[in-house]
Amino acid sequence: MISKRSSQFTSFIVMDVMARAEELERKGEHIIHLEVGEPDFPTPGVITDAAIEALQTHKTRYTHALGLLELRQAICENYLKEYGVEITPDQVLVSTGTSPLLLFAMLAILDSGDEVIVSNPRYPCYQNFILAAGGKLKEIQTYPEDGFQYRHKDIQKKLSRRTKAIMINSPCNPTGIVMTEGQLQDIAGFDGPYILSDEIYHGLVYRNREHSILEFTDKAFVINGFSKRYAMTGWRLGYLIFPKKFSAVMQRIHQNFMISASGFTQWAGIAALQKAQEDVAKMVKVYDERRRYMLERLTDMGFTIHVEPTGAFYVFADGRRFFSDSYQEAFRITEEAKVGVTPGVDFGSGGEGFLRFSYATSLDNIREGLNRLEGYLKKT
Ligand code: PMP
Repeated sequence: MISKRSSQFTSFIVMDVMARAEELERKGEHIIHLEVGEPDFPTPGVITDAAIEALQTHKTRYTHALGLLELRQAICENYLKEYGVEITPDQVLVSTGTSPLLLFAMLAILDSGDEVIVSNPRYPCYQNFILAAGGKLKEIQTYPEDGFQYRHKDIQKKLSRRTKAIMINSPCNPTGIVMTEGQLQDIAGFDGPYILSDEIYHGLVYRNREHSILEFTDKAFVINGFSKRYAMTGWRLGYLIFPKKFSAVMQRIHQNFMISASGFTQWAGIAALQKAQEDVAKMVKVYDERRRYMLERLTDMGFTIHVEPTGAFYVFADGRRFFSDSYQEAFRITEEAKVGVTPGVDFGSGGEGFLRFSYATSLDNIREGLNRLEGYLKKT
């Protein structure tokens, strides 16, 4: 029998759209992929070189369960340089991507029936990590006109004795919105629950600068990684920063469930933090150009962008004047316009009526995809 718990895990709708797009491609159709949420750039050479060198010098064993000390030190230096916050290597756990770390963080803080506050819409995996650790999802509706940020009083109303954490994600998937200092400070002010801050899109910010939750509170878990900023999705490398008192338990969790992250990718991670900033700056410039183009085209076509997205590589566009069922519409656009898009409802009921467009593809692809979409909208 399949367990009750695992049968509650929800799937990514975007994967269904991608599967349909691939089916069409196998039949010879040409599809433009604006649904995919991963960098289209190759991993910078300074990073792959470091991995090759690590392999050739036999750095192919398990590492310390928390991760290579050199990498954890580089992560600490990075947080000091970028945000002025002091953390120590015993507060850092390196793992195979941020995804398992979300699960490990939940395991470390939740007892059965404990609650985690998440927004609706949100990154769709969050709920499953909470469920897997025996926790309960406490959803808070957020609104387009607020850039889908929490309203203080809505959090206040949801807080209970069982609330162990509040989840935030800035820059956000799917909205591309970057939280302001004031918004982070407000969340940090809730005394009691931990703040779980998913900072995986840090570094991909196109206006002002992003802030870490650690600038405002140390009662926080930070989830970050190499997938997005350094174009390293397939390398599977991420890290978690946690309050000092969790050091032993995080180490124990990781020893048991993962032993350690892959050693040579960790050496590559050091090179990413120390040597790839110029490469990142180049990618950021290109993303920004695509972002501005996409925003202009989508607005011209009649989509509403309530608050300008200035981070990650997504535009979450309000298409309610064209459709109400984003799931059906995403499939129709894929099939008829031959453009893959992600339905807003993938991120929760609060995303209904929206589509997520990714600009992690070339400007030529974006132009062609949006031309096709414009033609399709004029016909329907
Ligand atoms: N958080 C968010 C918001 C994401 O978009 C993703 C990747 N799609 C992840 C976490 C997980 O990233 P990874 O496991 O590659 O580090």
